[in-house]
Amino acid sequence: MRIARFNEDRIGIVRDNRVLDVTDQLTERLSPAPYSLARRLITEFAAVRPLLEQTASAAGPGDGLPIDQVRLLAPVPDPTKIVAAPVNYRDHQSEMNEAYHISSLGFFLKSPSSILDPEGTVRLPYTDRRFDHEAEFALVVGRRASHVTPEQALDHVFGYTGLMDITMRGGEDRSTRKSFDTFTPLGPWLVTPDELGSPEDVDLELTVNGEPRQKANTSELIWSAARFLSYASTVTVLEPGDVVTTGTPAGVAPVEDGDVVELTVARIGRLRVAVSAEGAVPCPTSGASRGPVPPPAPSHK
Ligand code: MN
Repeated sequence: MRIARFNEDRIGIVRDNRVLDVTDQLTERLSPAPYSLARRLITEFAAVRPLLEQTASAAGPGDGLPIDQVRLLAPVPDPTKIVAAPVNYRDHQSEMNEAYHISSLGFFLKSPSSILDPEGTVRLPYTDRRFDHEAEFALVVGRRASHVTPEQALDHVFGYTGLMDITMRGGEDRSTRKSFDTFTPLGPWLVTPDELGSPEDVDLELTVNGEPRQKANTSELIWSAARFLSYASTVTVLEPGDVVTTGTPAGVAPVEDGDVVELTVARIGRLRVAVSAEGAVPCPTSGASRGPVPPPAPSHK
């Protein structure tokens, strides 16, 4: 099943390029707030899944809204945390001249407030720093996970999606460099594990203004999604709706004002955002010349 959030916080099932709005059915059945409807759906999915499957199979080809006529939103607006993998592809380790990879570094956190909707605009905060795209394959936790083994880990996944870990290069802490508002484009929707198949064989590809920049398969991850989720769960309890992102392959490069960045994840879909430097100011920290050295920027036409 593919589950999208769209328009004014509606929830829909995506099939054949149309979205079936199931919001009213869900609000009747799920627990009341305080969390977003998406997070409550994720938490209580087992109880409503048969109804959603029935709705999807009963729908005719003309039911629902054409996908290109809705405004997609990030599929989870309010995770308690975004757990992210540093240096989890060897080719990215090489290009960054990093001495260590994930098995030494563990994870870092991105602010949940940095989540950006599909077709949103990444806002570059500073005029004098380098900002890069990072294409990533992410999962959303479905069942609370604490000290789960790698073998148990995928049983705790609600679904998979695309994520861009937009990053300021330099010597500030990762949590600072990656947590600016708008620095976590997420989407376009969630694909449940039964529909995705193996998370260990998923192609991902990122372009900037149509030019290929990153291309990889999740089989190249140093720590698989399952191993990374398992490890993270030994540090911090993972709650339903939490986002776990698996890291970026080689090809990271700068994004600039006016760019259009597009991430395509096989069997999931396409996540596209714009980039703007409007309102950018000089950076108040002095980390620019510190930290790992990123690869030179590709020459522009
Ligand atoms: Mn990353």
